[in-house]
Amino acid sequence: MDEPRDPPPDPTPRAPLAAGLGRLSPVQAAYASYTQHAIDCDDCRNVDHTCEIAEELWRVYRRVGDAAGQAVADVARRA
Ligand SMILES: [Zn+2]
Repeated sequence: MDEPRDPPPDPTPRAPLAAGLGRLSPVQAAYASYTQHAIDCDDCRNVDHTCEIAEELWRVYRRVGDAAGQAVADVARRA
């Protein structure tokens, strides 16, 4: 008895996950840049390697997020 086989992978390239970066908030854009890099980068996919670009993108994301959080807290404090 033949079991059904998985269909062959779709050869069409996938659309970028972070399409429309211009419409994202700075925090969202920073995180999208980090995740898109991690998806595309050979070093990021290899658990035995460290990727300096990914580490820098993560630091940027954290910095942008912390700044946004601080800005919201500053405004909330004045209310
Ligand atoms: Zn990488």
